[in-house]
Amino acid sequence: LTEDIILALDFGGTKRAAGITRVGSYGWESIRSLAVPPGADASTDLRLMYTLAGELLDGRTPAAVGVSFGGPVDFEAGLVRLSHHVPGWESTQLRQILSENFNAPAAVDNDANSATLGEYRLGAGRDCRSMIYITVSTGVGAGWVLDGRVWRGRDSMAGEIGHTSLDPNGPICLCGKRGCLERYASGPYIVEDVRRELSDEPDQGQVLRSLAEGDINSLNARIVAEAAAAGDSLASARLRQAAWALGTAIGNCANLMNPDRFVLGGGVTGAGDAFWAEIRKQARRTSLPQVNFEIRPASLGGQSPLWGAVLLAEELLR
Ligand SMILES: [Zn+2]
Repeated sequence: LTEDIILALDFGGTKRAAGITRVGSYGWESIRSLAVPPGADASTDLRLMYTLAGELLDGRTPAAVGVSFGGPVDFEAGLVRLSHHVPGWESTQLRQILSENFNAPAAVDNDANSATLGEYRLGAGRDCRSMIYITVSTGVGAGWVLDGRVWRGRDSMAGEIGHTSLDPNGPICLCGKRGCLERYASGPYIVEDVRRELSDEPDQGQVLRSLAEGDINSLNARIVAEAAAAGDSLASARLRQAAWALGTAIGNCANLMNPDRFVLGGGVTGAGDAFWAEIRKQARRTSLPQVNFEIRPASLGGQSPLWGAVLLAEELLR
């Protein structure tokens, strides 16, 4: 028997989450998440998700399944190209696999697009027509909503703002190109640069050193943000560079697409008021004076991809 419920699945960076809602009701009936164990591959990853979903469904059949996936997805084909986090996902027909497993129609999109849809309909983008959502976390990704619809592009690759170049002669990025936004603004690169500066300059970064309890290998982006808030000049300078990069990219996007709003989420955006002020200042400086826009924090927190998955599933029922 098919129940009046939607199953939403989120294959995120470090955890797997599943939630169930009634069709048309935007509150969780139940939600569960688990950390991905080290050494997981695609098949253990999928089994983990089946375990979570099985506990929530308790024998029921969902009306539809929506999926947010952390890696490039061909939306039209329902095909996962690869995972950014777990090996073995290359060219997986995830939509078909899930549809057969749950005996329900399924839709799969990348996590940036899912989070964009979630924020647009239920979060910080609710009252606008066009919006760009940017997640600044382990990577930097984005999704576009133009006149109410997610814009995915020819290859479902639209929104790769993290690999737009801010300096073709800049530092090399993991994608092989130079001076990408992601190279300046993602958490791992911020931490990498801060560690190197701490080793090169033994007199600098005293707040950082004390927050890291003397072990600079224990640093993470959250600690860098805390150190900046506490007045550490090395941490502040590095975050100012990240904010400069984000503001420049946002100003360029504003000139190109003239959206109502930019919504920013992800761990790095918790870096405080000075960080946000620098983003806004640089975005304004980069964009033309006639181009108006707002920059706001995401409001669904870590749940925006999972809510987006609910909305993806609902579109299948229309
Ligand atoms: Zn890159």
